[in-house]
Amino acid sequence: MKQFHGPDRVATMLDNDLIRADTPGCARDDESVTVFLDSAGSSLPPRIVTDTVIAHLLRESQVGGYRAATERLDDRARVRTEIAALINAAPSTLALSDSASRSWADFFYSVPLSAGDRILISGSDYASNAIAALQRARATGASVEPIPSDSSGQIDLEALRAMVDERVKLVSLLHVPTNGGLINPAREATQIAHSVGALVLLDACQSIGQISIDVTELGVDALSATGRKWLRGPRGTGFLYLRRELAESLEPTRLDLHGARWSGPDRYQLAEDATRFEFWEHDVAARLGLGAAVRYLLDLGPQNVFDAIAERAAHLRAALPKLPRVTVRDIGTRHSGIVSFTVDGVEPMAVRERLAEQGITVTVSHASSTLLDMTDRGLPAVVRASPHCFVSYPELDRFVAAVAAL
Ligand SMILES: *Cc1c(COP(=O)(O)O)cnc(C)c1O
Repeated sequence: MKQFHGPDRVATMLDNDLIRADTPGCARDDESVTVFLDSAGSSLPPRIVTDTVIAHLLRESQVGGYRAATERLDDRARVRTEIAALINAAPSTLALSDSASRSWADFFYSVPLSAGDRILISGSDYASNAIAALQRARATGASVEPIPSDSSGQIDLEALRAMVDERVKLVSLLHVPTNGGLINPAREATQIAHSVGALVLLDACQSIGQISIDVTELGVDALSATGRKWLRGPRGTGFLYLRRELAESLEPTRLDLHGARWSGPDRYQLAEDATRFEFWEHDVAARLGLGAAVRYLLDLGPQNVFDAIAERAAHLRAALPKLPRVTVRDIGTRHSGIVSFTVDGVEPMAVRERLAEQGITVTVSHASSTLLDMTDRGLPAVVRASPHCFVSYPELDRFVAAVAAL
């Protein structure tokens, strides 16, 4: 198995050639291989991630899943430690899961709510979050209210300040929306929510792995994230962070013999940390793969990777508006690595298909994923290009030229 060589390979900037050599999905001299611009959807993993997953599956096939898992006890513990290091949390405050939506819901459904309580959601909130909020509102008699966006499109902090009161129990903050470049001011919004005692659940699905996240500095009560996007981990991985006091006090809506212990005929005892939000059974290979992805990122130096993503997105944001029929659709004042745009006279789905014919992978974000924001802006869909650090500048230019020629 080819091992990743440590940070000695990088000085202050990333060596794109080396990163590409670590990424089997990157084109070498073969132009027929895709220009990959969908890390906001499901990224290309480094070789070490796929090797780790496959090696574990093969081992399971030889000795069975239980023994294979026991052999990797230390590595499995390290998955939690690596994620904790990335977001400046304690390992005991993390609950690993199979998706960000699962983790988001695990927390959200466990927060007690009753009639008259208020749930606030972000203007660019994700459909799954909004659907869960609406379902719980229906069941409990709580209300769901969107936080208005300011003229730039980000969360309107003044409007939030004006709308909070002690009936607000939970605020769903969207860090980086799925449909474009915005980075919301999560720390400031959290402070406002906390001023009335509300809990803050941050959806960091699109921010983890592409911008710096420090849960202590952000001050959020909980955070959900996925493995397959900017972290470049396997599919079917995600995690929940809970502030320590919550990890030790909040009771999950569902438990199994991993989240709790059957301590007497009529008793059970909750796990003392965030693992109370986990179930026992999980895809061990995928989880080890997630650990390898986070380790790889830590070895490269997260800030180097974040800078490389930001520079590539900035390159696209400079180039695309120069094309006569192209409109960049990003909002907010701080921009992420997700560049969204539309092309006059060509439907987003057609843009995606015609680029795919030329070996360029982008995706389309539909209004149904971020209904409030897209309805406000009258957009049924946008094309989304999300370049990770492994994308080269010639590839970016090939993409821009292809859009120009549509
Ligand atoms: C992708 C995405 C999710 C869902 O993540 P899963 O791992 O598919 O559950 C949640 N929120 C945002 C903003 C996303 O982009």
